[in-house]
Amino acid sequence: MREGLAMGLDYTHTWTCYEGRELACGVCGSCRERLAAFAVNGVTDPLAYSVSTPIGQR
Ligand SMILES: [Zn+2]
Repeated sequence: MREGLAMGLDYTHTWTCYEGRELACGVCGSCRERLAAFAVNGVTDPLAYSVSTPIGQR
């Protein structure tokens, strides 16, 4: 993930949401891992999620 960001990959098209819908669900394990990775790197995830519960809100 860190390497990917460094290389400037477009993560708008790289999510692997388990739901397989148009929008990433934001709550499945895959989405959570993705959000956590973005948070760790201090980057805002460009993806649109079907839920508005970004990491850090509990
Ligand atoms: Zn998901």
